[in-house]
Amino acid sequence: MSLNFNEFMEGTREIRVRFAPSPTGPLHIGGVRTALYNYLFARKHQGRFILRIEDTDQGRFVPGAEDYIIESLHWIGLHFDEGIREGGPYAPYRQSDRQAIYRDYAEQLVASGKAYLAFDTPEELEQMRRRLESEKAINTSYGYLSRMSMTNSLTLPATEVRQRVNDGQPYVIRFMIPSGQEVRVYDLIRDWVIVHSSTLDDKVLFKSDGMPTYHLANVVDDHLMKVTHVIRGEEWLPSLPLHALLYRAFGWKEPEFAHLPLLLKPDGKGKLSKRDGDRLGFPVFPLQWKDPFTGEVSSGYRESGYFPEAFVNMLAFLGWNPGTEQELFSMDELIEAFSIERVGKSGSRFDPEKAKWYNRQYLQQRPVEELVNQFRPVLAEKGVRADDSRIRKVVEMVRERVDFVKDMWDQSWFFFKAPESYDQEVVRKRWKQETPAIMTEAATLLKDLEPFTSSALEARLKDWIEQKGYGTGQVMNALRLCLVGAGIGPHLTEIMETIGKAETVRRIITGVEALSGS
Ligand code: GLU
Repeated sequence: MSLNFNEFMEGTREIRVRFAPSPTGPLHIGGVRTALYNYLFARKHQGRFILRIEDTDQGRFVPGAEDYIIESLHWIGLHFDEGIREGGPYAPYRQSDRQAIYRDYAEQLVASGKAYLAFDTPEELEQMRRRLESEKAINTSYGYLSRMSMTNSLTLPATEVRQRVNDGQPYVIRFMIPSGQEVRVYDLIRDWVIVHSSTLDDKVLFKSDGMPTYHLANVVDDHLMKVTHVIRGEEWLPSLPLHALLYRAFGWKEPEFAHLPLLLKPDGKGKLSKRDGDRLGFPVFPLQWKDPFTGEVSSGYRESGYFPEAFVNMLAFLGWNPGTEQELFSMDELIEAFSIERVGKSGSRFDPEKAKWYNRQYLQQRPVEELVNQFRPVLAEKGVRADDSRIRKVVEMVRERVDFVKDMWDQSWFFFKAPESYDQEVVRKRWKQETPAIMTEAATLLKDLEPFTSSALEARLKDWIEQKGYGTGQVMNALRLCLVGAGIGPHLTEIMETIGKAETVRRIITGVEALSGS
C-alpha cells in the first residue's frame, strides 16, 4: 500500500492540542471533561498537551481561579507538556503576558482591508440597534446592514481617522465579515457546519483598552502555537464560522475542530452550569471552591471523597463510549481506547448515581492498605485511635457496603467504641423479659471461650442455643443489640472476634444493666 505525500505528512505531523480556560472562576466538570478529552487525544497520538490561560477579559478575572484550574487537573492526573508553569517553545502561555503580540495582527487585517477602526460611542451603538429593530432587519448587530452608516474608518475620510487616532480618541478594531458567502467549516464531531455570512456580525477583535478580544487572541495563539486540533465545548460552536473566516483572512491553515456535546442536568432539561453549585445535590466542581468575593463555598468531588480515577472514568463516559460493554477504564486504557469519532453530538445527561457507582467500583478494587490510610484520618476526626490491624480487618469487612471511604464509619463505628444508646425500636422488638438472664449466661459462657475466633464463637453459641432450646434469632438479635446498640452491622461473631473477648463481655454486661426493666 502506498501513501500519497499529504497522507505521509499527516502521519508525521505532530499533534498539538490545548486546553484554554479563562480564569473567571472555578473549573466546572464540563471544563474538566474538555481538558480530559484533549489530554487523551494528545497522549493517544503521542502529541503535545498545552495549557493556555485566556485572560484578556480583565473585568472577569477572579483571583485564585488559575491555581484552582491547575490543581484540579493535577488532581485527576493530567500534566501539561507546555504551559504557564512548564514553559515551552511558544511561551509565554498566558494571554495577558502576550499582550504585545496581538495589536500587529489586528492592524495587519486593517491594512489588508479585512478589518476597520470603529469610533462609535455606546449611545450610537444603542441607536443603531434600535433603528435596525424598528426596521425589522434580519440582523440587528453591527455588520453588513449597518457598518456604512456608522462612525468608522470605512465611512470617515482617512485624514479624519488619523486625526482621531492621534487625538487619542477611543476606538475598537472590527472584523469585516465578507458578504454573501456561505461559510463552511468541517467539525470532526458534527460534520459540516454551514452558516451564511449575512447572519454574522462584525465582531470586535481589538478593544479600546488595548486588549484583544477572545476571538482574535484565540485564533492568533492557536496559529502561533501550531495547534493542530481545537477540541472544546459546544458553547463555542457559534464562534466557529468567525474563527474560520479569521484564519482565511490571515491566509493561515485552519486547525481541525471538534465541538464536544453539552453536559446536561440529570433531568435532561438544560445545561449543567456553574451556577448550579450544590443546588442539585451533587458538586459541579472538581475541588471545593471558596468564592473570593462572596465567601460562598461550593463542594468538590475531591472533598466529597471521590477517587480521582473514578471521577476521570465517569467523566470520560459523559459524551464518549468505547462501543463495548466495558465500563471501567484506567487512564492508560482510556488513552488506548479514545477516539473523537466515538464522541457523540447530543448532550450527555449527568447522572449523580452513576458517579457514585463508579466510586464504589474503584473502592472495591483499591489495595486495602490505601483504604486503611484513608480511613485513619476519618477515625481520628471521630476521636478514635486504633491500631492498623484492627482498621484493616474492619475495612475488609465493610468496604463492600459503601460508596465512599468516609461512609465506612457509619458501617463500622461499633468496632471502635461501645454503643452509647440503644435503638428503641429494636429494644421493643427484641428485648423480652427473659433476655437479661440469657445475656448474662452468654457473658459467662464467652468469658471462658478460647480461642476467641469467629468460627469458634459461632460453634459454641450454636451448641449452647441448641442445648438450652433458645430461639437463635432471639439470642443473636439481643446480643447484637448489646454489642452495636441497633440491628445493624456485619456478621455478629466477626464483630466479637474483632473487638475481642473483654470488650464483648463488657458490652453484654453493660447492655443488661442498661436495658433491664425495658
Ligand atoms: N477561553 C475559552 C474558554 O474559557 C476557550 C475556548 C476555546 O477553547 O477556544 O472556554
